[in-house]
Amino acid sequence: MFSFENTYARLPGRMYARIGTWPVPAPELVALNETLARDLGLDPAELAAPAGVAVLSGSALPEGAEPLAQAYAGHQFGGWVPRLGDGRAMLLGEIRDPAGQMWDIQLKGSGPTPFSRRGDGRAALGPVLREYIVSEAMHALGVPTTRALAAVTTGTRVRRETMLPGAVLTRVAQSHIRVGTFQYFAARGDGEALRLLTDYTITRHYPALAEADTAERPLALLRAVVAAQARLIARWMALGFIHGVMNTDNTHLGGLTIDYGPCAFMDGYRPDKVFSSIDERGRYAYDRQPRVIVWNLAQFATALIPIMEGPQKAAIAAATQAVGEFTPLFSREWLRLFRAKLGLDDPAPAGVGPEDDSALIGTFLDLMAREGADFTNTFRALSDGSAEDRFADRRACGEWHVRWTRRRALEETDDPRQLARMRAASPALIPRNHRVEEALAAAHAGDFTPFHRLNRALTRPFETPGEFADLTRPPAPEEEVQHTFCGT
Ligand code: AMP
Ligand code: MG
Repeated sequence: MFSFENTYARLPGRMYARIGTWPVPAPELVALNETLARDLGLDPAELAAPAGVAVLSGSALPEGAEPLAQAYAGHQFGGWVPRLGDGRAMLLGEIRDPAGQMWDIQLKGSGPTPFSRRGDGRAALGPVLREYIVSEAMHALGVPTTRALAAVTTGTRVRRETMLPGAVLTRVAQSHIRVGTFQYFAARGDGEALRLLTDYTITRHYPALAEADTAERPLALLRAVVAAQARLIARWMALGFIHGVMNTDNTHLGGLTIDYGPCAFMDGYRPDKVFSSIDERGRYAYDRQPRVIVWNLAQFATALIPIMEGPQKAAIAAATQAVGEFTPLFSREWLRLFRAKLGLDDPAPAGVGPEDDSALIGTFLDLMAREGADFTNTFRALSDGSAEDRFADRRACGEWHVRWTRRRALEETDDPRQLARMRAASPALIPRNHRVEEALAAAHAGDFTPFHRLNRALTRPFETPGEFADLTRPPAPEEEVQHTFCGT
């Protein structure tokens, strides 16, 4: 079924816990990502057969698997937790796709591990389907992310506020290494593990850095992660995405979006928007994301300092400088993405400075914020000339439109190409919260049709939606989802 390489299992045993399976009574496949399966070189029919579903439910081990739960720590809402780890996830092993890229195959919700603490190691159907929909949508939207290969129900119930159907998600990613993975060993003064993890992360995510001297690798890795996170967070911002739990254990070293809990896409634009019911103080609000990630990257830098070359003072200075590179990298990427949303090329034509375009974008965002304009639809409407109709303040919008038109006239590309650029930068479709909730409610009642339809629609989010036009509609006031919950 899989040809596992078990590279993580070859690392020292203190970096994970070996675990076994927990059979479930009635595993049933509810979703299989056949496209992804084929891209990975897997056979969808084999995965969908009873022996495959038993594996995807965590009931049976595939040949060659050496299942383990990874150790990690983390700062949760700023508070240090020295031991988190995979409390409900199982790494089966790594496989290679036909192009030679290595992927982790991980089950989420497959049962307790030595890291479960008070948790049951299980996952409920709702959060599993939610992660499936949103992570695959993110991929289609061009955002680096973990992927969803399959979702199965287990035939058991899990106790949350109420009893809910249990489910397991098969998650696929270039690795599951987090800032918290490094923090775990730094807190234990385990320099050897930090060095091994540095090399391992470089192999998995930044192979070009393997050329660097051993002593230079930690700093090189830090700089690469800073750059990857700058690209990632800029993409989130350009789509109105709010992760919701940007703890250091949810900050991926490959710059992937990971751990879809109370995440959500904004409908109406409000820069300080928060959805997560547990984020009472708005630590992870939309407009705070670029600052929070710098804090998380500083924690990563702190974990690496003990293995950086030279005297500690020099290491601290180099690490601080590396983290300081985030803001200019992020700003540049943010500008590039938002320019594209206005149809503008990057770099801009001679005579147009970054501050000019930032101001143009900023004025438009201010207009949107004042009226709570729908983030997705308003940007998309720029590409069909209907954005102006979306604002009550016609005068302010008209003035902005004049500025924008003048700016567009300076572009080298013609109108049709500018419009195409806008359509490629601003999707027509996002997984709107009320639609996700609707799909989950139907699934709980045994009807997976809306879930599958939503997934199908979201594979082509930048195309004119046609039969999926209903999915572009913002929620009516009574449909609006105010809070999202951590999917544990
Ligand atoms: P998360 O908030 O989903 O990123 O998870 C934070 C930590 O809690 C991780 O160490 C998880 O493995 C653990 N965890 C979350 N849910 C459960 C659960 N149902 N059982 C055991 N551990 C869990
Ligand atoms: Mg997590």
